[in-house]
Amino acid sequence: MEPNQIIRCARGDLKADLLLTNARIINVFAGEIFSGNIALIGGYIAGFGDYAAKKVIDLKGDYVGPGLIDAHVHIESSMTSLTEFARAILPCGTTSVVADPHEIANVLGTKGLDYMLASAKHQPLNFYFTLPSCVPATHMETAGACLTAQDLQPYWEHPKIIALAEMMNYPGVIFEDDQVLAKISQARMHNRPVDGHAPGLNGLPLNA
Ligand SMILES: [Zn+2]
Repeated sequence: MEPNQIIRCARGDLKADLLLTNARIINVFAGEIFSGNIALIGGYIAGFGDYAAKKVIDLKGDYVGPGLIDAHVHIESSMTSLTEFARAILPCGTTSVVADPHEIANVLGTKGLDYMLASAKHQPLNFYFTLPSCVPATHMETAGACLTAQDLQPYWEHPKIIALAEMMNYPGVIFEDDQVLAKISQARMHNRPVDGHAPGLNGLPLNA
């Protein structure tokens, strides 16, 4: 969709794809709810008001608001596939999730990551992922896989990978573990945030 198409539609000179009428629109900035119509074109909101449209849906007073974003979730804990997870949460208003797939990575390693990334395609929910930083969670664990910085390297180019997941090995950060620092450096080199994780820390260790 070219921006000028959206502008034309907003101006009223081009038919909208869809007009949602009699909506109760939640304005999260002003903290208000107002009644009106919403015109959409190419998946974008072109404007509020009266518009000609190819399709009209009467919402009969239903609420319309921005989608919620779950900024930290481990989908595997729900014991569902991504499709079933989307089916359960989308109707409640969550339209995007940022998931750390460290549980499946602990069992299957990169095969698990590949499965999650492939499964996230063509879903009605926006799935984004953070790269599991601590697989296994500790060296005292009997895990199915071990993800080194080298294993993670190819994933930084993937558009759905948006950060390094919670760095649970915070002693490894404070005491400069080579692998931990290599993973953090990779994230920084690719301009991705690093999720922190530092329960109970204070003072100089917290500063570190
Ligand atoms: Zn978590």
